[in-house]
Amino acid sequence: MTTADTQELGLTLFEEIGDAAVVADPDTARVVEVNPAARRLTGMPRPLLLRLTLDELFRADRGAGMAHLLRALRATQTFHAQDGYSLRRAGADWVPVNLTLTRLHAEAGPLGLILARDVTDRRRAEDELRRANAELERRVADRTADLRGAAATYERLVHSLDVVVWEADPASGRFTFVGPQAEALLGFPPAAWLSSPTFWADRLHPDDRDRCVALRREHVRAGADHRLEYRLAAADGRAVWVEDRARLAPSPAGVRLAGTLRDVTRRRAAEEARAALEERLRQAQKLEAVGRLAGGIAHDFNNLLTVINGYAELLVGDLPADDPRRGAAEAVLDAGDRAARLTRQLLAFGRRQVLAPVVLSLTEVVASAEGMLRRLVGEDVSFATALDPDLPPVEADPGQIEQVVLNLVVNAREAMPTGGALTVSTRAVEVGPGHPAAGELAPDWYAELTVSDTGAGMTDEVRARVFEPFFTTKGGKGTGLGLATVFGVVKQSGGHVLVDSAVGAGTTFRVLLPAVAGGAAEGPAAEPAGASRGGAETVLLVEDEGQVRRIARSALEAAGYAVVEASDGPGAVAVAAAHPGPIDLVVTDVVMPGMGGRAVAEAVRRGRPGVKVLYVSGYTDDAVLRHGVGGGADAFLQKPFTPRSLAEKVRAVLDGGSGPA
Ligand code: ADP
Ligand code: MG
Repeated sequence: MTTADTQELGLTLFEEIGDAAVVADPDTARVVEVNPAARRLTGMPRPLLLRLTLDELFRADRGAGMAHLLRALRATQTFHAQDGYSLRRAGADWVPVNLTLTRLHAEAGPLGLILARDVTDRRRAEDELRRANAELERRVADRTADLRGAAATYERLVHSLDVVVWEADPASGRFTFVGPQAEALLGFPPAAWLSSPTFWADRLHPDDRDRCVALRREHVRAGADHRLEYRLAAADGRAVWVEDRARLAPSPAGVRLAGTLRDVTRRRAAEEARAALEERLRQAQKLEAVGRLAGGIAHDFNNLLTVINGYAELLVGDLPADDPRRGAAEAVLDAGDRAARLTRQLLAFGRRQVLAPVVLSLTEVVASAEGMLRRLVGEDVSFATALDPDLPPVEADPGQIEQVVLNLVVNAREAMPTGGALTVSTRAVEVGPGHPAAGELAPDWYAELTVSDTGAGMTDEVRARVFEPFFTTKGGKGTGLGLATVFGVVKQSGGHVLVDSAVGAGTTFRVLLPAVAGGAAEGPAAEPAGASRGGAETVLLVEDEGQVRRIARSALEAAGYAVVEASDGPGAVAVAAAHPGPIDLVVTDVVMPGMGGRAVAEAVRRGRPGVKVLYVSGYTDDAVLRHGVGGGADAFLQKPFTPRSLAEKVRAVLDGGSGPA
């Protein structure tokens, strides 16, 4: 290419190039030539542009002005000035440009060529980018503030909840976070919770551990939300019931098991108390039902036994000692006696026995039965008593208390088939808060009878059921009525029974009866001397059961009494009204259809105010009678009775005292 060609090409480029091209004198900074692009970009005609200096055409947005660029141009061949320059536009406007300066060598001396590229679009894009960046930064800052706020809120929440919020590694079981309430829950600071992967399992109650560990593993494997209830051992040894709700949740550190622990000890205690109460109610209802049943059976049974035993006794009395039939009659009487005892037993645990309570001393009851108990216990068990001579008296039926002692001693004996030690003791105890019977008995002084053995003891399951009627662990040999009877008697006397026992460590039964004020107990009155003394008084006999009435009548007549009789209440009232002579005593059955014994006594008394009354019954539903017939002229005779016991009792009542029960 020739020089002319090159000049030609340069000129064409100058004319056609899209950048504004300005040629200037480096010494004066005057514009000497511009290309069409420069005219377009500035919006100014060529003559106007040729009157400007570079300082007027360009502006440095910062730093030194155009002059230093020209100075630089004198020393340098080419350089670029990328940013920070603007090109004047008509109308006091400026266009952002990038500059490239080149020194040219013309014949008249050096010239400067300045190429200015419009960078408006790029600037705008850059500005937008900057704005966008600033916006982004602002948003990030806002979000960070939000997150900080949220974290603070969460922390406040975690602190204010009445649950322990926790997070754990599902694989190892190690807690990775626990809320600050963790310390109040168990007494261990959060750091202790996080310290060991087995913290949770270690604190689990032994009875809950296997179940809960297995359940948790199962739920984690299935990825299931779950709820567990169990006990944790607190630092002070307390068992704390907790409700634990957990789920698997993603977290920055991988999947975590997250949940809450709530202290539900009080709720559990309330539930357990309610369950215990329901159980007791159930037991009471059962006892009530059995009692009704027993009462119903015993009523008929006692009448039958009165007849059987009555005639057996008459037969035995009538037959000469050497009569071979006498043995048979005695056997009938003996069996009848045992049947009568069994009936009494049935009634006692059904609490439907008529009590003949007197003020007595448990010490004296035990002391007077000691010889019999010793024989019962036998040789291979050592028997000891520790009796408090100053024991406060109680009010109870002596026959029943004897039964209680007997049943407890028999059980103790049976629990020691290969020997051991059996102790019966009495003492005064004060029941107050903290006493094991405090829930059952009012705070006060009680006389306590203790029967303890060194025998086989019992499991908790057995111990929970011993007082149930018919509950026995002795197979066909036991009746299961011994302790039910004890319970019935003691409850009916306003007391309570406690059991302490452990397998292999023996058993102690404690009977508590309310102490009563009053003088020393008198034992049961002695049997009147001699056989049955009779009398000549008139007796009104009221009994609905014909055979019983007949045997009673013949017993009374044999003893010399005049007898008028009635087979029901209204009949008795009519007989009493119609009888011309005196009536000294009413002997009446208690339980009769229609009008009961008490109503009969009251009605007869309206016409004959001073008349004495002897109630006869095996059982009663009458709560007043059940707690003992009132004092004064009224007395009570237990069915089944024999001709002799009836005659004796009638004599005693007529003579003033109520005689033996
Ligand atoms: P039974 O003696 O006919 O079985 P009880 O009502 O007297 O009926 O006693 C019920 C159960 O209570 C007994 O079968 C026995 O399991 C348990 N029991 C009672 N007393 C004792 C005792 N002293 N030691 C161990 N177990 C006893
Ligand atoms: Mg028994």
